[in-house]
This record gives sequence, C-alpha cells and structure tokens, in this order.
Amino acid sequence: MKLVSIVVPCYNEQEVLPLFYDEIIKVTDSMKAEFSELEFEFLFINDGSKDKTLEIFRSLADKDKRVRYVSFSRNFGKESGMYAGLKNAKGDFVVVMDADLQHPPAFLPEMYRFVRDGEYDCATTRRVSRKGESKIRSWFARKFYQIMNKISQTEIVDGAQDFRFMTRQMVDSILEMSEYNRFSKGIFSWVGFNVKYIEYENVERAAGTTAWSFWGLFKYSLEGIMAFSTAPLAISSLLGIVSCIIAFILILVTVIKTLAFGEDVAGYPTTLCVIFLLSGLQLFCTGILGQYLSKTYLETKNRPIYIAKETDELYRNRKKSAEESKDASDKE
Ligand code: UDP
Ligand code: MG
Repeated sequence: MKLVSIVVPCYNEQEVLPLFYDEIIKVTDSMKAEFSELEFEFLFINDGSKDKTLEIFRSLADKDKRVRYVSFSRNFGKESGMYAGLKNAKGDFVVVMDADLQHPPAFLPEMYRFVRDGEYDCATTRRVSRKGESKIRSWFARKFYQIMNKISQTEIVDGAQDFRFMTRQMVDSILEMSEYNRFSKGIFSWVGFNVKYIEYENVERAAGTTAWSFWGLFKYSLEGIMAFSTAPLAISSLLGIVSCIIAFILILVTVIKTLAFGEDVAGYPTTLCVIFLLSGLQLFCTGILGQYLSKTYLETKNRPIYIAKETDELYRNRKKSAEESKDASDKE
C-alpha cells in the first residue's frame, strides 16, 4: 500500500473548508477505486486562524480518522504552514495544496500518474493565465519572475504554484533546507529533481477572501529575491565603482580647470550635487547590506519555523480520557 498525505495550510478558511473537504473526499475516493494501492491521510494546518477553522478541523477529525491536523500558536505565514505539513506528513507521496479550491483536486489522478512510476519526482500545475487578478498585480508578478530569473541561479517558472504532488525523496530533501526565511518557490526549484508542469487556466477562489494584500506580496517577492540571489549585494559594489569613476573624472576636471583658469568660488552647486549623490549611493548600499545582515541575524537565531499548540493526536487523546473518566464516574 502507498500512503498519500494531503497537506493543506489554512488561515481563516471556515467558509471554504467544508466545500474543500467534500471535493477532496470525492476525488480521493475515485482515486482509490482507480489505483487500488493508494491510501490517504489529510493533514490540515491551522495557521493561527481567528475564525472557526480549528473547530472545523476538530469536527472533521471526529468523523474521519484519516483527518489529522496541526494548529499553530499564532499566525506564522503560509510558508511555515507548508513546512509543518511536510514535516508531519507520513506518506510515501505528499501533496501540498490550498484550501480555497484554486488548486483543483481534480488534477490529483493525473499528477499521480506522473510520479507513480518514478519518471518524475514531482508533478505541479502552472497557470497560463491570471484571470480574475488585477492588471497591476499580474504586471508586478510578471516583472518579479523576469528579474528573479535574471539575477538568480535558481530558476523560478512563471505561474508555478505551491500545488505539488511529490515523492518522499523530494520531500525529505526539502525538509533538509531548514532555513528560517522560507521562499517555497525557490526551495522547490533549488532541490532539483524531475518536475512535470501541467498547464491550466487560473481558477478563482471558491469562497472567503485572499489573505495576501498587494503590499504583503511585494514584501514576499523581495524576500524571495534576498533568499535566492546575492545579486543586490553586487549591485551595491557596482554602484560604488561607478560613482568612484565619476568622482575621479570630476577631480581631474577640477584640477585641470584650476591650473588653467585659476581658482574661483563658483563651485558650490556642483559640490552639493556630488555630496548628495555620493551619500545617497552610500546609504543605498548600506541599506542592501543591512537587509542581508538582518536575514543572517534571523537565521543565526535558529528560531523554530512554527510552534504547534494543538494536534489531532492531542485532541483525540484528550477526548478519549474525558470519555474514560466519564465512564468511570457513571459506574460509581
Ligand atoms: N494561508 C496560510 N497562512 C497565511 C496566509 C494564507 O496558511 O498567513 C493559506 C490559505 O489558507 C490558503 C493558502 O495559504 O489555503 C493560499 O492563500 P490565499 O488563497 O489567500 O492566497 P492566493 O491564492 O491569493 O495566493
Ligand atoms: Mg487562493
């Protein structure tokens, strides 16, 4: 038998979770009929939701023993959610997908066929359109992938998503990357392996709202660049070199001018310009250095990527012992 773990990070997903569960049960049941070797577990991650997400997990765990969950002590972000999922998954294959049905479960059988025979280590979807997304957002996204692929050795495919069907071997490699600043798109690509991209049209969220603001995404893309490229550090040295050359030429010009025409005090505006330009460049470069330093600082602290407050195991044990003590008191 082969176990497939389906990992689903959730943040405030009470509206869509029941829909998701129905859908995933439908698809996995039909997969069991088609591939008799498969078994499933559903591993939900509650990323510090403020709504009824955890209550829904508990009631799913009550009625379906294949449902497992990990609930965080606060919101750690989707990256931490995915990490926790991969870490706790027991399967021979692990699927990571969103709860909002933007990653259609109907793709799972096709994905499984690609990884089953070992030809591919990972099957994933790639959206070819960004239907339902604002124009500015798609423009920034496209630019991000262009810049990222120019300045980083790690190739990141435009439209690639965190919807993945992976083998145990690939999951273990991903878990070995225990960095604190996690940028999954880079991590998935960095570990290599054979990846099959299945193209599809973008699907809009089934219910609820996205947790990503434009500003949040922008910050996330900068994180991605910093995590997988040191090119910005090179930019700062380049800027330094360029400004040194300019300064050298200016000095030369001033010396020649003074020798030829004598001295006058008419140089204030140019002096000011040069001071502003150079101190600006210096601050810019120090800023870039500071950004990398702050990331290094966070890494060296070795903080945990997530903190679990409750798991299905804890919940089930607690329930069992409550029932036992109730039975005992009934007998008395
Ligand atoms: N998510 C999460 N933690 C967060 C934000 C989002 O676990 O802090 C989950 C969310 O519940 C969903 C997935 O990540 O299952 C994708 O989120 P969303 O649909 O909001 O993002 P989008 O599809 O707009 O990129
Ligand atoms: Mg979504």
